[in-house]
Amino acid sequence: MHPALCPMLDRAAYIGGLDGVSSLKGAEAVGVEPKGTMPHALIIAFEDQVKAWEAFDEVMAPEVPRIALVDTYSDEKMEAIMAAEALKDRLDGVRLDTPRSRKGDFAEIIREVRWELDIRGYQDVKILVSGGLNEGRVRILSEAGVDAFGVGTAVSDAPTLNFAMDIVELEGRLTAKRGKLGGKKQVWRCPECLADTVLPFKASSQKCPICGNKTEPMLKPLVKDGEIVAELLKPKEIREYVLQQIGKLSLKNISH
Ligand SMILES: [Zn+2]
Repeated sequence: MHPALCPMLDRAAYIGGLDGVSSLKGAEAVGVEPKGTMPHALIIAFEDQVKAWEAFDEVMAPEVPRIALVDTYSDEKMEAIMAAEALKDRLDGVRLDTPRSRKGDFAEIIREVRWELDIRGYQDVKILVSGGLNEGRVRILSEAGVDAFGVGTAVSDAPTLNFAMDIVELEGRLTAKRGKLGGKKQVWRCPECLADTVLPFKASSQKCPICGNKTEPMLKPLVKDGEIVAELLKPKEIREYVLQQIGKLSLKNISH
């Protein structure tokens, strides 16, 4: 990927509701601290997972969560126990990566890891999963006990939404190509059920056809005579708005 695209993708991921981003430039674009966990390369450089976890714990700043990567050399369950016994109360979480490359039922592996940590008194240790995730797998693994997810490709290479721009008025005169409705329009959205109603621009707002709530106009001027006339929201504010809307949806409603 072109490096210039990373901050744009990270920004889009962040305002789309993800909690954090890992690239330095992306974090800068969004205005947050970058987040990440240890790579397999660290474990391999030490040729010993316990030594790698201990070295990470020794040198990293105290505010950095201690998340041990637990799938490098042995079974995830065994390495999770080893990490908990090595770092004890300092361990914040374990990360299981590349689940698709493993045989067996990954949800079952998660349940086993959770069980083995809990039974040893490590109920506070979180389980993180990364690699090959999409919204369907996130739902299954979330139900199995995963606390956090690292998602890359499914976000950066997400399905595109088709849209087109059409001329529907010329200097105030109605016009349109075949199959398109002429005239400037306004989109009225229900803040409760998110249903959209498209009406001629000058028509007054209508109640939501689904729930009867008051609808709000979506199209507002951003630029007028070359000047930005709208107050542009910060990434954090856009993210909060998105999360508030996502709260009204469920994965079951997503059709693709
Ligand atoms: Zn509604």
